[in-house]
Amino acid sequence: MNTKGLKYIIVGAGFFGAVMAERIANVLKERVLVVEKRNHIGGNCYSTIDEKTGIEYHKYGTHIFHTSNEEVWRYINQFTQFNSYRHQVLTTYQNRVYQMPINLETINSFFEVNLKPFEVNDFLAKYKGDLSVEPNNFEEAAIQSIGKPLYEAFIKGYTKKQWQKDPKEMPISVFKRLPIRKNYEESYYYSRWQGIPLEGYTKIFERLLNHKLIDVQLNTDFFELRKQLSKNTKVIYSGPIDRYFDYCFGKLTWRTLDFEFQRHEVEDFQGTSVMNYAEESIPYTRIHESRHLHPERSYSDRQTLTIKEFSRIDHGEQPFYPIPDEQNQQLVKQYRALAEQKSNLIICGRLGDYKYYDMDKTIKRALEVFEEKVRH
Ligand code: UDP
Repeated sequence: MNTKGLKYIIVGAGFFGAVMAERIANVLKERVLVVEKRNHIGGNCYSTIDEKTGIEYHKYGTHIFHTSNEEVWRYINQFTQFNSYRHQVLTTYQNRVYQMPINLETINSFFEVNLKPFEVNDFLAKYKGDLSVEPNNFEEAAIQSIGKPLYEAFIKGYTKKQWQKDPKEMPISVFKRLPIRKNYEESYYYSRWQGIPLEGYTKIFERLLNHKLIDVQLNTDFFELRKQLSKNTKVIYSGPIDRYFDYCFGKLTWRTLDFEFQRHEVEDFQGTSVMNYAEESIPYTRIHESRHLHPERSYSDRQTLTIKEFSRIDHGEQPFYPIPDEQNQQLVKQYRALAEQKSNLIICGRLGDYKYYDMDKTIKRALEVFEEKVRH
């Protein structure tokens, strides 16, 4: 590959890399090379069609686009339209199905009562323990918020499976991601806009990268061509930050997912796109059923596709999610300080920043970094 005279190289073709490439080509009118380790673009948002059922699925877990940021919404709509899908999640506990996040329907079904919203606080108070003590971790915050029985049924086992950690050792911030509702609202997100791209996620990436000034090279390990690069090439790297520096301060830990695909000879397997499984004794965290993401499509009425999701700790082979603990945060700080010293280097994105960005946050970050560090 000829990298002579190359001004920009982008590592990774997920949202961060693809948005950055689009901006460099369209705004700066400069040539840019995007290298991607995998055999496809789109990062973990990649979607593809299952040949046997014809159903489009998200290879790395269900992705629901949602945002309240107008700039991001306007930007992404140049590359796709969205369907009218609204995300709802259910959870199975002891063979019964409840709504998630916990809402009034969950509480009433679980305790077999018929509370009104204004009665919920008094009802749960007896299960919450001593509220005058400041909570120190995920478990204590959860019990103070929803009481012990709901915590033990819906949160404790699921969290242990998902993070491979006792909730007593986890930060309160993770629990706070999950809203608790005293009404019957069942929408998972409160974002102003949400949906699934009408033609799937991969199409967005094809459009972002489809430009005569953008070259995309798949199946390419950046670290093998790093030595060929001239000092004048700006490196925009969206891979794991510790890998870039050859793990000089030690390895970050991540959470990764494994998936088990299954086809069933029925039209509809579980009636919804995501079903969580709350108990620790069930090894997977959730089952995705991809057909429900596209209610506007007419899929086969004889077959459906489900994907079981398993969570485990990873040491950089297949990093998906950062782990919010003190040790990893300290390591990231050291690596970021090193990155700041290099003038022709930008390290960003979920793996580069080691931050749990949703898709809209990643796009926003790319747009901002382009303006602040590439354009000016
Ligand atoms: N959670 C849970 N039970 C559920 C769903 C979520 O205990 O059925 C907990 C879990 O610890 C999770 C956190 O709530 O990490 C935040 O949920 P969110 O939906 O943000 O998780 P995500 O899958 O997006 O990480």
